[in-house]
Parts: sequence; C-alpha cells; structure tokens
Amino acid sequence: MRTVFHDLPAASAGTQRRLRSLHFGRAESGRKAYIHAALHADEVPPMLVAQALIERFSALEAAGAIAGEIVLIPMANPIGLAQDVQGSAFGRFDMGTGLNFNRQFRHLTAALIPLVEPQLGADRAANTRVIRAACRQLLAQVQPASETAALKQLLQTLAMDADLVLDLHCDNQAVMHVYTGTPQTAAFQPLAGYLGAQALLYSEVSGDDPFDETASRIWWELAAHFEGRFPIDANACLAATVELRGETEVAHDLAEHDADALLAFLRHLGHVEGLAPPAPAGCEPTPLEGVEPLTAPASGILVFAKTPGDWVEAGELVVEIICPLTDTRTPVHARAAGRCFARTSRRFATRGMRLAKVAGATAYRTGNLLSP
Ligand SMILES: [Zn+2]
Repeated sequence: MRTVFHDLPAASAGTQRRLRSLHFGRAESGRKAYIHAALHADEVPPMLVAQALIERFSALEAAGAIAGEIVLIPMANPIGLAQDVQGSAFGRFDMGTGLNFNRQFRHLTAALIPLVEPQLGADRAANTRVIRAACRQLLAQVQPASETAALKQLLQTLAMDADLVLDLHCDNQAVMHVYTGTPQTAAFQPLAGYLGAQALLYSEVSGDDPFDETASRIWWELAAHFEGRFPIDANACLAATVELRGETEVAHDLAEHDADALLAFLRHLGHVEGLAPPAPAGCEPTPLEGVEPLTAPASGILVFAKTPGDWVEAGELVVEIICPLTDTRTPVHARAAGRCFARTSRRFATRGMRLAKVAGATAYRTGNLLSP
C-alpha cells in the first residue's frame, strides 16, 4: 500500500488540512478503481466501511491479487469534518459558500470536445487514453480559488482516469440505495444485489454536477457526439453513489457486510482477481425522475406511518404533521406507489421541509433531481 498525503491550500493563516489517498495494487493492468468515503463529512458509515476495505485490500495486495490499481480515500472531506457548530456536525454544505460539497464538480464535456477532436482515431482504447489525458490537462489548468475548490479539484483529478468510481455516502434514516447514470444501470445491478440495495435510481442528468456523474457522464456524451466518426467507450468509467443506510448505522457487522459486497463487485468487474460470488437479483431499477420527495405542506410534529424499506401504495399515508399552535393535523400521502427508501431524522417540520423519499416506477419530475 502506498500512502500519499495531499496538503490543501490553507484557508486561513495557521491552518493546514490534508487528504490521505491509499493506493493498492501494482498498476500493471491499466485498470483503476477509485472509492472515497464521506464527501458529505457528517456521513460516518462510509468511513467505517473504508476501514474494513483497508484490511481487505491490504491482504489482497499481499497475495498479489490486485493487478490494477485501487485508490481509496478513507475520509474525503477534512473541511466538512471540522465544521462542528455548537455541538452539531455540519458536513453537507461548505460553511464558507453555502454550497453542497457534492455539487458543482467540473463537467468537462464541452471543453473536451474541441481539445480531443484532433487527437481521436479509430482505436477505441487509444481514444480512452486521449480523453483521460485531456481531462487531467483541463483539471490542472484551473487554479482553485478556495480550499474547498482545491479539495474538489483534487478528488476529481484522482478519480477522473478510473474505470470505476464509487462515492460512498449515507442518508438520514434510510435503507441501502444506489444512484447511477441511466446508461450504467445494468452494470450496477450486481452491485445493488451484493449490497442488498432496496432502490437503484438512475438518471441521465441529475442536476448540479455531483461527483459520480462528473466522472461518468462525459463518456456517454462524447460517445454520442462523435458517433460514426470515432469509437468511444460510452461506459469507460462506471460511476455510482452508494448510500450506506442511515447516518447512525455505524457498526462493525454492517461495515463488514458492505465491504464484502463492494469487494464482490470489484471481483465481478475484474479489479480484483478471483471468482465473484453470484449476485443476488436485487431490486428493480427505477428512474430518479420517479422519486417523490414528500415535503411538508405545513409545520408541525412529524409522526411517521412509514419506515424506510416499507412499500407505499398510491395515496397511502406516509406521515402526519400536527401543528402545536392550532392542533391541526395534516396527513401527507404518497402520490404514486413505490418503496420508501429514506426519511428525515428530525421530528419537527418547517413548511416545505423534505420529509421522505419514495421510489416510484414512473418518471414525472424534471430539472434538478437531487436533494439540496
Ligand atoms: Zn451524502
């Protein structure tokens, strides 16, 4: 295992934060997998799963079973991790800018097209190398304006030439679920099966450029743009966001299970030698455009009728809101049938607050599809 410490530019005089990347394998096969934990820094389950992965990857490396390279960032966001506000962790948004740490990564397609066009040819694998080199070039050209921008640039640079990118998160209260790009849904079905995911959500463009999508979307966009002229692997980088249940589900048995599932998927794709176990069938993929984010039409005490993992019929009660000023009771129903896969951990709602998410089978939403 090779350990690299990356110093971030100090945000203010007298401070210094650093990122640790662990590099396993021999980097011989040209294959690369990239996994990081807790880009939203208050999401702890991924960090424990990374600990379990370190043990597994170290043993596999010692056994010579990693021919390619596996890059693991066991803690992806030291900036957010330090944002403790009067006893509460505040790791989802950068306090300096208010921006979500998992949004506004650099989507490179438009800049890549003119840059790679003169260099592309008839060889698909050579085209992949050209595009990856161009990605590195474009990312290196920008001088990051802040510590957070530098962190994002560093993470994106470490991931941009990988064949597989896994961004490990968790939700408030949730069952295991996975987000990926529409063209990659079938490729991630085995992962959903290994993990025991209860929702596999796909979208072509989910909005605001989250990390995983930035790594994968360029490929199918470039493949479409140059179709008929140059062969480009539309799935040269498979990328997904894995939501490892709810934020308090930090336990060794869960982390061991999840690390085994991730490892099975790495074997399935050939990043680790050895036979992958057969993947359980898993859940039916559903469009991100079909996820109903139930929001509070009124303020009040939240009494949930549904728990993550429950099936919800169309029109069924998910949560009741009781106003302590007027005693008014407001039921919140699901518009369509689907799997309730996440809900807030708070039990008092302000008007407009997101309360729960139900994965329906039919797309109906447009625009920005992710939570703020
Ligand atoms: Zn997250």
